[in-house]
Amino acid sequence: MTSTIQLVNPADEQPLQEVELTSAEGADAAIARASAAHAAWRAVAPADRARLLRRFAAAVDADVEHLASLEVRNSGHPIGAARWEAGHVRDVLQYYAAAPERLFGRQIPVAGGVDVTFQEPLGVVGVIAPWNFPMPISVWGFAPALAAGNCVLLKPAEATPLTALRLGELAVEAGLPEGAFTVLPGRGSVVGQRFVDHPAVRKVTFTGSTAVGKQVMAGCAAQVKRVTLELGGKSANIVFADADLEKAAATAPSGVFDNAGQDCCARSRILVQRSVFDRFLELMEPAVTGLRVGDPADPATEMGPLISAAHREKVASYVPDDARVAYRGSAPSGPGFWFPPTVLTPDPGDRVLREEVFGPVVAVVPFDDEDDAVRMANDSEYGLSGSIWTRDVGRAFRVSRGVEAGNLSVNSHSSVRYATPFGGFKQSGLGRELGPDALAAFTETKNVFLSTEES
Ligand code: NAD
Repeated sequence: MTSTIQLVNPADEQPLQEVELTSAEGADAAIARASAAHAAWRAVAPADRARLLRRFAAAVDADVEHLASLEVRNSGHPIGAARWEAGHVRDVLQYYAAAPERLFGRQIPVAGGVDVTFQEPLGVVGVIAPWNFPMPISVWGFAPALAAGNCVLLKPAEATPLTALRLGELAVEAGLPEGAFTVLPGRGSVVGQRFVDHPAVRKVTFTGSTAVGKQVMAGCAAQVKRVTLELGGKSANIVFADADLEKAAATAPSGVFDNAGQDCCARSRILVQRSVFDRFLELMEPAVTGLRVGDPADPATEMGPLISAAHREKVASYVPDDARVAYRGSAPSGPGFWFPPTVLTPDPGDRVLREEVFGPVVAVVPFDDEDDAVRMANDSEYGLSGSIWTRDVGRAFRVSRGVEAGNLSVNSHSSVRYATPFGGFKQSGLGRELGPDALAAFTETKNVFLSTEES
């Protein structure tokens, strides 16, 4: 019996479409097809594999508007953001299209012969994606994995499979051979679990909650299966008194409220030096109350709805009736999973300072000096991202070195560039995606020694 899931538009709660869920048997059959396809895919000449990836990128480029409109309806992302996400898929594919011809090994000087290394593909790779950024997070896995000569199975999150399914079609249109890239909508506990358990899947890259990531890692341990984990975050935005306070305050909302706060990199703790704390809050207020929250299809919209009613309930639990709310932005009333951007000034022990809210709720707290700021930023089980606002270059580097997080930005809130590595410290994850080194995560190094002794 096949089961289906009814997708819902989070902006108006209208049913969108039904999608068939892959069964465990269906997942096993797809894994078998990918395994069978691997020998041919890895044998495709590097320049031809590069060409196919460039054609895939071109197919995505021609489909940006369509992909973006799917994400608007399926995920509630504002159209401007959704266009960027679709363009990002193209860009990541382009970037890794250069990789097949540059997957260099090394020649290492040794006595008695020639020693060379090869970067061998792993075989079949399973990519498990979350619902918050369906397109970007999927491509971070499948583009380098394909470039390195692996066959890829992509499992999108239950609620947001539409763009992944379209990318699967575009790969076929671009000429990727059958079995090289397969999209399997389905449940995590069914399809995701088969990726973890099936011995023919040699690597799992998982992005999602820390709790499920730990299960995936434990499951993969049974077969010493390779795993990359991109998990939760509770990132700090540290604002020193010597910063360009106007700019820091004007941009802080985008650092946390982008994608309605459903962003693993959300700077959901704003640490502000005590001497400018009140001034900062004052300066930030118009940027929060002025945020355009509404119809994701409207190009002027800056923030859309949350993904589901259940998720909105979870987010709302961080703003109980007695919460210290400094101010809030607006949100539409009526249907849709709306939640207004909310600024809290909580007590030091409040759980909103420790737990990932994954919604448009930010906590602003004061600190005294540099040591205090670094200590507070590091007072978290997570370590994914963060920002530092200061005009003092030495301090910018000292604090950057002191904060335990994988992706920091100074006087900005940028975390993701396809050419630079992305990933977390501590319980925010394991391994790195993107950048020049991501290929190492999808290959094994093989060492070959060839004797030059006369026989
Ligand atoms: P989730 O953990 O519920 O689900 C993520 C994916 O895992 C989904 O595809 C789901 O179907 C699958 N899954 C669920 N149970 C599974 C199992 N037992 N075995 C295998 N797969 C299983 O997370 P979510 O709610 O979709 O995503 C939100 C979380 O993702 C947040 O915590 C967020 O911080 C994190 N995230 C991290 C990054 C990063 O790069 N570090 C990026 C985006 C999101």
